[in-house]
Amino acid sequence: MSSSIHLNHPYSLLAPGPVNLHPEVRKILAEPMIHHRTPEFDQIFARVRQDLKKIFQTEEDVFIHTSTGTGGMESLLVNTLSPGDHVFAIVSGKFGERWAEMAKICSANVHVHSVPWGEAVNPQDVQKYLQSHPRTRAVLTQACETSTGVAHPIQELGKICSQFPETLLLVDGITAVGAYPLPMDQWHIDGLVAGSQKAFMLPTGLSFVSFSKKAWAFVEKAKAPRFYFDVRAEKKANRNGESFFSAAVPLIKALDQVLKLILNQGLDKHFQTIRRRAEATRIFVQKAGLSLYAKEPSDSLTAILLPPNIDGQKLRLDIEKNFNMTFMGGQDQAKGKIVRIGHMGYIQDEEIVRSIEHLITAIHKMDSQWISTTKITGLSDELKTWLRTHP
Ligand SMILES: *Cc1c(COP(=O)(O)O)cnc(C)c1O
Repeated sequence: MSSSIHLNHPYSLLAPGPVNLHPEVRKILAEPMIHHRTPEFDQIFARVRQDLKKIFQTEEDVFIHTSTGTGGMESLLVNTLSPGDHVFAIVSGKFGERWAEMAKICSANVHVHSVPWGEAVNPQDVQKYLQSHPRTRAVLTQACETSTGVAHPIQELGKICSQFPETLLLVDGITAVGAYPLPMDQWHIDGLVAGSQKAFMLPTGLSFVSFSKKAWAFVEKAKAPRFYFDVRAEKKANRNGESFFSAAVPLIKALDQVLKLILNQGLDKHFQTIRRRAEATRIFVQKAGLSLYAKEPSDSLTAILLPPNIDGQKLRLDIEKNFNMTFMGGQDQAKGKIVRIGHMGYIQDEEIVRSIEHLITAIHKMDSQWISTTKITGLSDELKTWLRTHP
């Protein structure tokens, strides 16, 4: 197994965002620039705003910010909070920490609810808290906490928050929207954010946000400072078919193409292709003797716990250098202990097979006792059969 063979493979970015771009996206990004105040762009802009509503599964407007996902998280906060508001922040990893921090900077009174890394929040804990603090303005949570690979029970949290008229459920769906079902209206989500470089198969640079009717009452009166992310201004501009500021034309043109691809295939079928990648990965890493880090694993990525004698940082660098494929490692308390394989973006079956092969081969290189080469070949053949028989 010489590394030069593997380097002949095209580069594969299997991070949980950014992800491999769709070939159609790469073509569009190479086109000449057009102005954002043109009839040509107006049509595209109107269409993507309609199509985004189908992905968010909402009747409400979806707004496009030129920002990374974090900007969209800030937008949800500054558009709903006022200084002194009480916020219940579910913190189960790096992104939860970031959002709680941001809410503090918005001068909210933040009650941090810590959940051990790798676990999902218990909805009963949230219900109990809200019963004794019914004036809580917002519950903040990730749908998928990308640093641990956990999917939180958003449907249950939506049911709970909907019983409290003063409380909004704000959801960071950056690795969930477009990756697995998260119907905003049906699940009573009050604020939802998504990001372009995750399930949307685009480069980094756009975030998408939407607010429920319940949330709009607070959007109108929120006192947190906002200008760039003021969705009232964006809404007004959108009503005239325009964006508040210069639109990120190439990204939005590429988005138009991605939305067309997803919606032509059908949202359920699209979710199924991502779930299948996640299932294949979960089954075969466990067959190899590894375990999953997340107790409630998300379909958008798989976080894999490594044998204790394996340095995860070295492992992922070795895979990148020798096999031309990128996984992510762990952060903070999970640093060196896990690798994370993303299932979003443009991924061929051949890459799913290679991802498992490369992972276990690289561990074998560090500890030849851990698995035999015959078992590696056996698993790889079995995975190919699994993929063929689970289209
Ligand atoms: C990627 C990610 C973000 C942050 O996105 P940026 O685009 O890097 O700002 C936030 N939340 C979650 C859950 C993510 O996966």
